[in-house]
Amino acid sequence: MAARDRYSRKLECPQCGHSGFAEVSEDDDPRRKDPGFQVDEMPKGFYTEFAARDPRKYMLRCQCGHKFRFERKSVYAPGGEPRR
Ligand SMILES: [Zn+2]
Repeated sequence: MAARDRYSRKLECPQCGHSGFAEVSEDDDPRRKDPGFQVDEMPKGFYTEFAARDPRKYMLRCQCGHKFRFERKSVYAPGGEPRR
């Protein structure tokens, strides 16, 4: 069984500037095609619009109504980079 890789990711809405830290995890196994990505804890004011097991397809919705992908317009927290 693959270990889960956990890290936090800063989310920032490109429209209203609202931000927060999401706690996420994915399988720590580069051989897997499916990273098994999931958001364990969504920061206040952000919602899941479309849950996907790939962060590039995971859609979020901000409290202002703006929708954006998890990977877009977000930066890594210090020391929170996923291992590759
Ligand atoms: Zn917003």
